[in-house]
Amino acid sequence: MDYQPLLEEVLKDVSAYRGQGSVAGYIPTLARADPNKLGIALALEDGSAFAAGDGEETFSIQSISYVFSLALALHHQKSALWNHVGREPAGSPVNSIFQLEMEKGKPRNPLTSAGAIVVCDQLIGADTADEAVEEMLGFLRERSSDESVAIDEGLAMSESQAGAFNRSLAYFISAFGNMQNPVAEVLSLYYRQCSIAMSCRQLARAALYLAFDGTDPVSGDAVTVASRARRINALMLTCGHYDNSGDFAFRVGLPGKSAVSGGILAIIPGTGAVCVWSPGLNAAGTSLVGVMALERLVERTGWSLFGHGRSLG
Ligand code: GLN
Repeated sequence: MDYQPLLEEVLKDVSAYRGQGSVAGYIPTLARADPNKLGIALALEDGSAFAAGDGEETFSIQSISYVFSLALALHHQKSALWNHVGREPAGSPVNSIFQLEMEKGKPRNPLTSAGAIVVCDQLIGADTADEAVEEMLGFLRERSSDESVAIDEGLAMSESQAGAFNRSLAYFISAFGNMQNPVAEVLSLYYRQCSIAMSCRQLARAALYLAFDGTDPVSGDAVTVASRARRINALMLTCGHYDNSGDFAFRVGLPGKSAVSGGILAIIPGTGAVCVWSPGLNAAGTSLVGVMALERLVERTGWSLFGHGRSLG
């Protein structure tokens, strides 16, 4: 298959919808995002990579970072991580505090804000947030084969200033005894990991190992064991889009993680990884045009895990 024209056709298919959805407004940097941006990139087993539209432009990876911090925390804590966070779909908005109260400070899964905060605490472990940030950045630079991956420090600062909600979640978790490090230390990792700037091309490349049983097919690096890659994919499929995960499986059928900046990373097991970016969000906070683009991509390629049938509309 010729992938470059395929990506361009996919973007053309959805370009009439560009600008739809609402851009996240809780901090100025995100509120200023151009809703007409639209990019896509695909990374494949043989090292080939394709990008179209704004697929080379960087944006803050926001909650796509949860996937990578989860992989690193599992590497350090192994299955003990599951004493601190669950693995069931939440079916509630990304930052629900109600559910956290019901479940006594143990977040439902690692791909909600509360779950990701717990994962950050576990990733820091007995180290410092600065060391964990360096580990995360080093990991993403190595996986994307790009030393230029960096944190947007100004954005991290505004995330922190606007962070009353996340502080509430973190103190709540701490009050239930599910946090070993000081809240400020944990959130300083959380805000900086959300503020890492990457392009669709870099993200698709960085996630390639998840499509190949934990081994990067290009470098040959054994990044993680096969069972862990499989489980991270399962969590992305069931929990990767807040209370929109069922709809994403219905329409796209791939493990994925969406972010408030409009990025969506998806894994195509045995084939590769794809990332789309378009800042306009649907009501659940998933990129509205991004999901449409992935839907068109799986229709044209038959990559959904659940079968090849075309949508009826
Ligand atoms: N950084 C943001 C927050 O937690 C949002 C992350 C996301 O993409 N949902 O406030």
